[in-house]
Amino acid sequence: MTRLVCPFCGARELGEFEFRKTLPEPGGTPFAQVYERIERPALSVEHWQHVEGCRGWLLVHRNPSTGDVLGTELLGGGPL
Ligand SMILES: [Zn+2]
Repeated sequence: MTRLVCPFCGARELGEFEFRKTLPEPGGTPFAQVYERIERPALSVEHWQHVEGCRGWLLVHRNPSTGDVLGTELLGGGPL
């Protein structure tokens, strides 16, 4: 089972978190930043929230093709 590392609660099951959004490519136009859906098969940077825990927000680096979590960061902070 996939686990995410929450900076405050530690490693928890994925079911405790909710996906919020995929972040757009950096440097795009303001229109693209808001409206264009980005499909990246190898790497996706996403916002997730620990809704069944501390309700903290995370940046999750994930391979959407395999579901592998490549890294987790506190939103606005450094790598965990
Ligand atoms: Zn948490």
